[in-house]
Amino acid sequence: MLRCPQCGSTDLYEELGGYGGFRYRCKQCGYTGSFVIESEEELPSPEAVVHEEGETHFTIPLWIKIVAVLFVLYLLLTLATL
Ligand SMILES: [Zn+2]
Repeated sequence: MLRCPQCGSTDLYEELGGYGGFRYRCKQCGYTGSFVIESEEELPSPEAVVHEEGETHFTIPLWIKIVAVLFVLYLLLTLATL
């Protein structure tokens, strides 16, 4: 599995270089060069990991707040009717 050194994407394709060798081009960020990262595992790209962490970090507390507010309102309503 080849990986782009700039953005970590695996969306690379080979193209013929200027000196008779191969070089790689990244579809994501446009990086062109002979240096690429070779990794055995198919790990998610760093960009995707950061995005995922940020999303869960923000959505989970909001969910808890909404559920807590609804639960308190429900309790108040049930206590008021008694
Ligand atoms: Zn890239």
